[in-house]
This record gives sequence, C-alpha cells and structure tokens, in this order.
Amino acid sequence: MNKEDRKRIGKKIEEKIREMTLKIADYRELTRPVSPENAIGRISRMEAINNKAVFEAALREAEERLRKLKEAASRVEAPDFGLCISCKGEIPLGRLMIMPESTRCVRCARR
Ligand SMILES: [Zn+2]
Repeated sequence: MNKEDRKRIGKKIEEKIREMTLKIADYRELTRPVSPENAIGRISRMEAINNKAVFEAALREAEERLRKLKEAASRVEAPDFGLCISCKGEIPLGRLMIMPESTRCVRCARR
C-alpha cells in the first residue's frame, strides 16, 4: 500500500469513527429503560420493549465496529496494514474504503 492510499484509508477510518460515535449516542438514547408506569398502555409498552431489543442489538454491533475501527486507526501506519491476516495477500483498496476495519480479504472472510 502506498503512502497516498494509507492516508486516504486513515481519513476514512476517522470519518467512520465519528459516524459510529454519533450512531452509538443515538442508540444509547433509544435503549434507555422503558419505565413500567408509562401511561402508554400494555401493547405500546410491549412494542417499546421489542424496539428496545432491536436497538440494543444495533448498539452492540455499532460498539463492536467502533472498537475494530479504533484498532484499525492504531494500525494504519504499520507495514502490514492492509494485508489479510489469513493469507497475507493484499486486501483490495475498494474493500478497505468501505470497511477500513477489515483484517481479511473477501475470500478469507467468507471462509
Ligand atoms: Zn486472505
């Protein structure tokens, strides 16, 4: 990977970290406890609890992605950044631009 590409990926990582941080704040807001004495009725309350479970799953996923992005941010200057950890081949730039936290090429990730 050349210097320019590394710089572009580094910027992309920062961008995604900001994006994920905002998303996580939103999800945290949406996963606040549903109060039992809510005057919204039983059905609405069940709905609220269902939605909460969906947002909780999304929150966990976003937190995991943020963790991986931060890891990628700390590795972006390393000589082996952008190399697949399984086959040691280069991860295509297009994949890294979409998922800069990737540590495997598409083929190895699918295995
Ligand atoms: Zn691979």
